[in-house]
Amino acid sequence: MIRIGPSGNSDSFYASGRKHTYQEGEFLHELGLNAFEYSFGRGVSMSDETAGKIKTELGKYDIAISVHAPYYTNFANPDPEMIQKSIGYIIQSINACNKLGGERVVFHPAACGKATRSEAVAATARNLALLAEKCHEIALPFKLCAETMGKLNQIGTVEEIVEFCLIDDMFYPCFDFGHINSYMRGGLKTKDDYRRILDYTIDKLGFDKASQMHVHFSKIMYGDKGEIKHLTFEDTKYGPDYAPLAELFDEYKMSPYIVCESNGTMSDDALIMKNLHKNA
Ligand SMILES: [Zn+2]
Repeated sequence: MIRIGPSGNSDSFYASGRKHTYQEGEFLHELGLNAFEYSFGRGVSMSDETAGKIKTELGKYDIAISVHAPYYTNFANPDPEMIQKSIGYIIQSINACNKLGGERVVFHPAACGKATRSEAVAATARNLALLAEKCHEIALPFKLCAETMGKLNQIGTVEEIVEFCLIDDMFYPCFDFGHINSYMRGGLKTKDDYRRILDYTIDKLGFDKASQMHVHFSKIMYGDKGEIKHLTFEDTKYGPDYAPLAELFDEYKMSPYIVCESNGTMSDDALIMKNLHKNA
């Protein structure tokens, strides 16, 4: 089964007269979508009452929910205190995700800082092992989805993310194909460009884990240093296109959880994506 939905409340959600996130249950059901991502990008804060209401309303319509951990986690930070802080943000996110009725937590692995890329990747791998050790104590179901990043000074290429996913069963890839395309400055064009990524991931992680990958998708403007900003499906210049990826997910019979991160049109564009699948 493929899950598809928006990240956050779209312009058309508000234009429909709705204003509270719990109303996404009815809104997405009416559109024919079945997933929603809630971002704790600026910090994990939500009352238990609000979380419970969102859980109930989304559950009523079988809309799955995932959360995005705070954007500022950095597992390559040389300061051990900062690593403990990043671990804390992930644990807060897992708890909040559980209260919302979800299992998937997306996080940003790291930035290079002053270290070389290989030093930063090695530090990230060490600190993710520490994170895994801490998270094994949590008696909740969860998946930690490490995201591919779009700026050249950030850690998170496809290969790096796949390597991190081998550290522990709890780690899954979050492939943000807009980021991947930005990092490669327009490298995702043909169906084979996507196929190489899927084949590589299935080869390294096995079909089961690869199949359940988390996906972020939007068209993204990029420059010499990678990602600049998220666009909508109106864009015809930067890409990438979803159609070849939809064909591959169908062909490979994969079960990804797909989140559209278009700028304002994320529910509209998620629906365009859904309609490119044969059985979603
Ligand atoms: Zn992200």
